[in-house]
Amino acid sequence: MKFIILFLGLLVKPQAVSLARRFDSEKVFRVVLQNETQVNFLKELASTVLLDFWHPDSVHHIVIGTDVDFQVSAHLANYVQVKLQQNELQYEILFQNLQEEIEKQIDGGSIFRKQYSYRKYNDWEKIVAWTERITRNNPKLVSRIQIGKTYEGRPMYLLKVGKESGRKKAIFMDCGIHAREWISPAFCQWFVKQAVVTYGKDKVMTKLLDSMNFYVLPVFNIDGYVWTRTEDRMWRKNRSNNSNSDCIGTDLNRNFQVSWCKEGSSDDPCSPIYCGASAESEQETKEVANFIRGHLTIIKGYISFHSYSQMLMFPYGYTYSMAPNHDLLNKVAKEAVDALSTLYGTKYTYGPIAETIYPVSGSSTDWAYNEGIKYSYVFELRDHGRYGFLLPESKIRPTCKETMLAVKYIANHILASAP
Ligand SMILES: [Zn+2]
Repeated sequence: MKFIILFLGLLVKPQAVSLARRFDSEKVFRVVLQNETQVNFLKELASTVLLDFWHPDSVHHIVIGTDVDFQVSAHLANYVQVKLQQNELQYEILFQNLQEEIEKQIDGGSIFRKQYSYRKYNDWEKIVAWTERITRNNPKLVSRIQIGKTYEGRPMYLLKVGKESGRKKAIFMDCGIHAREWISPAFCQWFVKQAVVTYGKDKVMTKLLDSMNFYVLPVFNIDGYVWTRTEDRMWRKNRSNNSNSDCIGTDLNRNFQVSWCKEGSSDDPCSPIYCGASAESEQETKEVANFIRGHLTIIKGYISFHSYSQMLMFPYGYTYSMAPNHDLLNKVAKEAVDALSTLYGTKYTYGPIAETIYPVSGSSTDWAYNEGIKYSYVFELRDHGRYGFLLPESKIRPTCKETMLAVKYIANHILASAP
């Protein structure tokens, strides 16, 4: 008997031990920086203890007047809190125990947990099966293209959504370039579903799909996304190895050939905003860039989806100079966020990337713009930091519904105006 219990114990044990990184008692602080001394203090603190910046996404982007959200490991949390108090910084603790928040995020109900759902954060295998299914069920509206493979060999699937009829204008949309921003891939899936469900019923969507195509990449950084679901929920970069460093991954949104590795990115492979060994050094960047380059004559719009902070932005990120068609981009952005807010009153800010959030070099939005795609936008979806990257599943539906209004507005404008 004893032997059997021992034996069963051995059998059970491996399941109870998870390899995934846990976040017990890790905290997320929000600090409001009011003067240069406080900015310098926080920069210095970040150079002595490991702070994982959520917003802005790196210590490089800290400036006076910004809310800075960062994650601190359990054993350093007290130390950091005391330091903030001693230096009289205004702060709040957004998350007392990150692990609990991670578990709370999955609040979409457990009964159908194993099934795919638009109201849940689906794992990669379910998303792949979904791309097959939605293509099979809507052969006249959706087709699936494999544009390449990720570093770890996963197929990168792109869905072409639109009524087949000759040569049409197109909009390229991608989601999930940063692994931990889960609401982003959820939106791309929602978009495709809404497109096929409302075709023939909704006037605007019908016109859009009749007259143009949407190329939708549901998950850009697939390896990173899988990593956030199996190992480290807070992972951001892709999963490629770096020579001369033990640190893994490149920030794909710093890896494009546009003012590469300058302001707002880092050449340190351990940094969360590492620009990579060279522009387009990463498999995923290269596949997307090649596809877009190959379709430049038809792609009139580019839209990328991130989270969080409720912003709609456009070029430039790498310079404070205004884009040649700044006024037009700004006007369309304003009208798009107005449309978004009509549903639940959600407020978005809008403007050029560098001014609205912070300077960024090597981003996909600037790159697409400089390739000649004159309508190039980037969304930072919900929320403002109450949940941050851990936006609960119960918020997927309202977030996607309101975002649809803005995207449809932009698309409709492109259809009417782009040459
Ligand atoms: Zn992002």
